[in-house]
Amino acid sequence: MSDSTLPSTGGSEFGGQRLTPAYRPSQVEKQAPCQAGCPNCGDIRGWIGTVAQRDKLGLSKEQAYERAWRMITDVNPFPSVLGRVCPHPCESHCNRSEHDEPLAINAMERFLGDWAIDVGLPLPVIDGEAGPEWIGVVGAGPSGLSFAYQMARRGYRVTVYEGRDKAGGMLRFGIPDYRLPPGVLDAEVERIQRLGVELQLETAVGRDVSLEELKKRHAALYLGIGAQAGRGLGIPGEDGPGVWTGTEFLSLVNCGESVELGPSVAVIGGGNTAIDAARAARRAGADVTILYRRSRTEMPAIEHEVEDAIEEGVELILLASPVRLERQDGALRTLVAQRMELGEPDDSGRRRPVPIPGSEFELPVSAMIAAVSQAPDISGFEDLDQDGGWFLTGNGGAIGDGIFAGGDALGLGIAGMAIVQGRHAAETLHARLRGLEAVPAIEIDRQLVGPDEIIMEFHEKRPPVYAERLAPEERLAQPLAEVSGTITEEQFLEETSRCFSCGSCFGCEQCEMFCTSGCFTKLEEVGPGVYFTLTLEQCQECGKCAEVCPCGFLEVN
Ligand SMILES: Cc1cc2nc3c(=O)[nH]c(=O)nc-3n(C[C@H](O)[C@H](O)[C@H](O)COP(=O)(O)OP(=O)(O)OC[C@H]3O[C@@H](n4cnc5c(N)ncnc54)[C@H](O)[C@@H]3O)c2cc1C
Repeated sequence: MSDSTLPSTGGSEFGGQRLTPAYRPSQVEKQAPCQAGCPNCGDIRGWIGTVAQRDKLGLSKEQAYERAWRMITDVNPFPSVLGRVCPHPCESHCNRSEHDEPLAINAMERFLGDWAIDVGLPLPVIDGEAGPEWIGVVGAGPSGLSFAYQMARRGYRVTVYEGRDKAGGMLRFGIPDYRLPPGVLDAEVERIQRLGVELQLETAVGRDVSLEELKKRHAALYLGIGAQAGRGLGIPGEDGPGVWTGTEFLSLVNCGESVELGPSVAVIGGGNTAIDAARAARRAGADVTILYRRSRTEMPAIEHEVEDAIEEGVELILLASPVRLERQDGALRTLVAQRMELGEPDDSGRRRPVPIPGSEFELPVSAMIAAVSQAPDISGFEDLDQDGGWFLTGNGGAIGDGIFAGGDALGLGIAGMAIVQGRHAAETLHARLRGLEAVPAIEIDRQLVGPDEIIMEFHEKRPPVYAERLAPEERLAQPLAEVSGTITEEQFLEETSRCFSCGSCFGCEQCEMFCTSGCFTKLEEVGPGVYFTLTLEQCQECGKCAEVCPCGFLEVN
């Protein structure tokens, strides 16, 4: 939407003296904070508003759902998956948190994702952009598949080479079933395949086919190889039975293999992998203790996952770090650890853990899972730009002539980040192949609407909706059962109506009601954010319209 349907006259001339009107309104669409918080810059306000305003927009419920889902899948082909696992930074930016509580955006995304799977909606294609080039992708994780989707929907022929026997990357082999059922992932991957994306499983580049061969075969390549290799701790006693890295252990569990853990497991680390490993070990019947060398504040894991782990009986020892493992006849017996305190911030900005001399203590353990970090396995890609084993990319993910890379192989991140990097690389490559204007970085530089610009009192206070969840004892009794449910349709619709529509008109009609000069005219054909025209001839410059606009869309200048 343009700034205003009428350009401002910039003031009037009177008796030779120029008077600048103080309260001349204009319609200015601004960026919503949820969108600013989303790594993918998704138009969250747009898709929520499409459902919330469906009656005003003349849409049936189903039409609104479909339109909203298409807005999501324009940038992310995995709404059902991300609706389950995204740490949803969008919600922590929501202006509604200044009124009652932020919108349950993640739960709404999941509802729409599940609905689209149920009704069998195909992913949206982009007509008329096709090129003859054959594009190769290495790695069928979220990043590679996001890239493949964005190229395939533009009409390119795409082949994805995946080393393992199934697609999904860490979404399948890292995140446990109780958080992300494999059927949900399968449905969203299959939908990408239905666009014509060819998946060559059990084809590892560097092992089964060389990078050189793929360079000859394809017009361009995208490397989404992730960071699959778990890192050990490097402490004495680590080599031998009873020790796994977090990703090794979770991959075994997710493949349905039984892992002999014994009665007491120590998990080392404070990220998502550590929490998932601890909860999976707990479901296998072990007593589980997590050791993390910093405090809870610095824990990178998703906060509610940590809460869930504690509810399930996982013990947390903070400010503690392993020193050595002791074995008896080869079997693990004891983990010796020491207490830490926090010193000055390190390069990551988190306070550095410093050992406290003489603070060693012992934990009896039958197994240890080291979930401290992962790194890419770059064998086969050694000639490409890298920094300490991580790919180094330039604009749009370019790493070489016709080669792009993204996702965890650039640095450990979240699935949403891997998806946006795949999308950006695809858009950049497409622009290059078709000689189009270069694609800018994915960010929006519109003005952001803060809580001060929202009239909170316009909206009654209402808590967000919550999905049903399994009780901790039920979770342990059914280790694969999904912990959180999907919100109901009724809850979904109720939640969409909590959106403030920050910075975009939602047709509340306040401006029209308060304008005594008739400057606002309702449009016959409305659209999201577009309900009224504004004509300023009769404007008395009282400023009332902007004063009563609850979403910060009207401005006076
Ligand atoms: C245990 C765990 C829990 C997580 N929880 C969350 C969460 O709750 N929310 C969230 O947003 N993120 C989470 N993450 C992070 C998220 O999963 C990753 O950021 C994301 O999967 C990275 O995507 P990617 O496509 O870059 O890499 P990956 O998902 O790792 O996929 C890489 C793919 O490339 C394949 N591959 C690698 N090398 C080759 C080769 N040489 N040839 C062919 N194929 C190859 C791999 O087999 C794999 O399929 C979690 C990660 C882990 C490990």
